Amino acid sequence: MPKLTMQSWLVAAGRPEDPGSPLNVPMVPASNFDLGGKRIYSRDSGAPGWEALEEIVAGLEGGDAVAFSSGMAAVAAVFDQLGRGARVVLPDDCYHGVSELAKSGERKGLWQVSRLAVEATDAWTAAAQDADLLWLESPSNPLLTVADLRTICSAPRKEGAILVVDNTFATPLNQRPLQFGADISMHSATKFIGGHSDLLAGLLVTNRAGLYEQVRKSRTVNGATPGTLEAFLAVRGLRTLALRLEQAQETAGRLARWLDSCDSVERVRYPGLESHPTHAVAASQLDGFGTMISFDAAGGAEAADRVCLGVKLIRHATSLGSVESTMERRAAVPGQEHLPPGLLRLSVGIESFEDLRDDLEQALA
Ligand SMILES: *Cc1c(COP(=O)(O)O)cnc(C)c1O
Repeated sequence: MPKLTMQSWLVAAGRPEDPGSPLNVPMVPASNFDLGGKRIYSRDSGAPGWEALEEIVAGLEGGDAVAFSSGMAAVAAVFDQLGRGARVVLPDDCYHGVSELAKSGERKGLWQVSRLAVEATDAWTAAAQDADLLWLESPSNPLLTVADLRTICSAPRKEGAILVVDNTFATPLNQRPLQFGADISMHSATKFIGGHSDLLAGLLVTNRAGLYEQVRKSRTVNGATPGTLEAFLAVRGLRTLALRLEQAQETAGRLARWLDSCDSVERVRYPGLESHPTHAVAASQLDGFGTMISFDAAGGAEAADRVCLGVKLIRHATSLGSVESTMERRAAVPGQEHLPPGLLRLSVGIESFEDLRDDLEQALA
């Protein structure tokens, strides 16, 4: 294939090339294969649909990809690489499932966890010298703080250490952590890659051959393989990722500015706003500011709950990165009580700016 832009790669990659074959890799619901060929048993040898998904995302990120049954299955395959007593560093703001997994291993005495502020770049580069796993998430969930990946990923790290960036919120179109020097870029494909709230899947992408073999091995022995239908739907989702992202991101920028001007909104967190604490890093590192907005409703938890119940077009739901806009009050989620009580996390979909603004306006009133 000629060298393509990411927009064209999303459309062209991962397709069968034999004359007479369908243009899309068909769903092949197979565990078992006739012996003597490339495949033996799918948990081990992979399946055509997963490989299409892996090929597309690998090409975008610039590495080799392994697909998993969910984002958390991908996360678990990374933690599976740690030896007993390993030092793990997590951001103060990150996906709660990752914190839970890290805490549960710490309780069992498997590793030690420390946490650093996402924006504390010097502390991260210092930690890189003796940490075994540096886990970054940028922009972070739900405060949308942007880590200085260029600096942190290029700082010298302990031999054998693994630096991971959870790239779910940025998508490979807005940010490619391997190019900054990360060892692994991780995705919950459940979100933007799938893009339609109808599947669970995850991905790890790495340009370190040894690490690729190790996480793939972990998938095989732990059985964390993606489903046939899920991989098919994720590939279908990827075909339109560039369009969906472009549209939703445009709208998100306009909505963030509009929300910022509302009296019933106390604070807006969107990396594209000049007022955002890490706006400068975001502008230099991201190809787009994304589709996620966090904002604090004036009047705290009660007011925010009323907004969630008042929206009609926007769905009151937890997940994100889909064609439909979704919103929830994050501090209402068990384990997230440390967040500002009135903080609403809005995932902007591909509806029109006017309709979304009108919906928020009536719900905020
Ligand atoms: C959803 C999410 C995950 C976990 O992925 P699942 O597909 O739900 O297992 C990890 N990180 C981030 C940033 C997420 O949004």
